[in-house]
Amino acid sequence: MLDLSNKAKGFSESVIREMTRLARAHGAINLAQGFPDFGAPEAIKEAARRAIADDLNQYAITWGSAGLRGAIAAKAERLYGMEVDPERQVTVTCGATEAMIASILAIVDPGDEVVVFEPFYENYGPDAILAGAVPRFVPLRAPDWSFDPEELAAAFNSKTRGIILNTPNNPTGKVFTPEELEAIAALCRKWDVVCFSDEIYEHILYDGARHVPIATLEGMEDRTVTINALSKTYSVTGWRVGWAIASPELTAGIRKVHDFLTVGAAAPLQEAGVVALGMEEAYYAKLAVEYRERRDVLVAGLLDAGFHCTPPGGAYYILADASAFGVSDDVAFARKMVAEVGVAPVPGSSFFREPSRGRSLVRFAFPKKLETLRAAVERLRGLAH
Ligand code: GLN
Repeated sequence: MLDLSNKAKGFSESVIREMTRLARAHGAINLAQGFPDFGAPEAIKEAARRAIADDLNQYAITWGSAGLRGAIAAKAERLYGMEVDPERQVTVTCGATEAMIASILAIVDPGDEVVVFEPFYENYGPDAILAGAVPRFVPLRAPDWSFDPEELAAAFNSKTRGIILNTPNNPTGKVFTPEELEAIAALCRKWDVVCFSDEIYEHILYDGARHVPIATLEGMEDRTVTINALSKTYSVTGWRVGWAIASPELTAGIRKVHDFLTVGAAAPLQEAGVVALGMEEAYYAKLAVEYRERRDVLVAGLLDAGFHCTPPGGAYYILADASAFGVSDDVAFARKMVAEVGVAPVPGSSFFREPSRGRSLVRFAFPKKLETLRAAVERLRGLAH
């Protein structure tokens, strides 16, 4: 009997993706996997069509076309005053997902420890296992999902090589405050640790929240891998174009790993990325306003239906407490919601190492048309409690 590697046996199939398949099978409204059900901006779709028509159909440079790397560096400078050399500090990858795993593989050795805030985006667990790293979990606690600075400090030691940060955060919607970022940065400096910073929701912010890349904090520029993608900001999650910004030394390693993992991201879509990253500021302002409206519709609907939740400060997820429905098994509850209510969430346990901590929680994603969200809210009324 042929066996799988211990690595592959060390984690299970993605529950987020599984819920999408289940939603399809039942014709349920998919509020599980976080992807938009509305169109992408016309200008970038046109740019993609043009690139294919112009026969930009062969490999781009493995670490990204010069045009896209230039646009990534220019945007980081324009928004945050970051100085990024596109020749030596940018790696274009197949989505933020590949940027994260390639960076971890390039920087973390088996046995090294990586600090992960919990609840965490599902992928970070398998990322750590594939790299042979030992994850050290630090809890974020509701309702504001803050961490205890002493607990965080206690998670660092001489074996710590990295910390994974995701702000605005999936699944909690937390936006880490400047003080919290400084506390993290101080520990990274003290223990000589690299911060893998997933900033994919940087433009999806509410109620005046501001995005601060941790790389812009003192002493963090050379010890941060800043990860992002076209996916969420330009509503093209299926394009799989992301990137990592890091020091030239770290970038050299990330580029090597990336090259042997995937060679490169889709060449014509990289060209469209240049147009995307050059969008006017008004585009981002409108994106945030539209997401706020979606958030407010779903938060109100969830409260109305009997869930407990607080409005997220950023990103497009609500981690809702379903205790009022007497839920003790989040997976069974989520499956029942798909089959009987016609709305698919993600079971909360997917975001915790110890599944029991997420047993009364479910995550709803709201990158959806208002009509989709209203239809979901209507269906949620059918939940008895
Ligand atoms: N980030 C999205 C989520 O959490 C989707 C990620 C994915 O499935 N690749 O739902």
